[in-house]
Amino acid sequence: MTKIAIDGPAGAGKSTISKKVAKELGYVYIDTGAMYRAVGLKAVRMGIDTKDEKGVTSILPDLDIDIRHEGVEQQIYLDGENVSDKIRTPEISMAASNVSAIGAVRTALVDMQRKLAKNHDVVMDGRDIATFVLPDAEVKIFLTASVEARAARRYRELIEKGESVSLEDVKAEMIQRDKNDSTRKVSPLKVADDATVIDNSDLSLEESVKNVVEFIRSKIS
Ligand code: C5P
Repeated sequence: MTKIAIDGPAGAGKSTISKKVAKELGYVYIDTGAMYRAVGLKAVRMGIDTKDEKGVTSILPDLDIDIRHEGVEQQIYLDGENVSDKIRTPEISMAASNVSAIGAVRTALVDMQRKLAKNHDVVMDGRDIATFVLPDAEVKIFLTASVEARAARRYRELIEKGESVSLEDVKAEMIQRDKNDSTRKVSPLKVADDATVIDNSDLSLEESVKNVVEFIRSKIS
């Protein structure tokens, strides 16, 4: 089985690019951020403070997260409900970042992620895939872009979905989330020693996908 790890900060286009790359290669795409988002959503729904380690840890024994693949689209189910769209709000982005700093949450989700990668060729995206989840991945990419480019993309995405947000707020939330993710004690966001950094600030989506596919093919053929 071939494993492709794609890590990077918020809004670098990891999910969109990884999904298209997986389709092109005929691999299964696994969006690990969606799993942290589902835990964040569950905590918010239960009225648990997402920074409260004890409270969040208490929901783990009954956690029912299911990843299903419909074509290359990953759908995520929480307690039997498809929450794929409900997890994509600024509130749940921050909740995900908060719960992801809790060791017990990471242990539970990393276990699921490794199982998912066991029986398929995968493109897995996240923050700690190359450094921790799949350290023996054949290809490791750290996808990044300037904070301005990332905030502008995320802003457009949210506006297109009908969310009422300002560019300043989106940028501030992104900076805060990157800070949380790269300074937490467990599996912080960082470039793995053997990863290749690809900066796509000045590339279109199509160019980024082409770039990443070519890079992967050069490594695995
Ligand atoms: O990738 P996405 O923005 O959907 O991830 C949401 C949050 O989940 C991130 O800000 C990060 O805190 C957390 N995350 C993580 N490790 C991963 C994937 C996501 O900590 N492998």
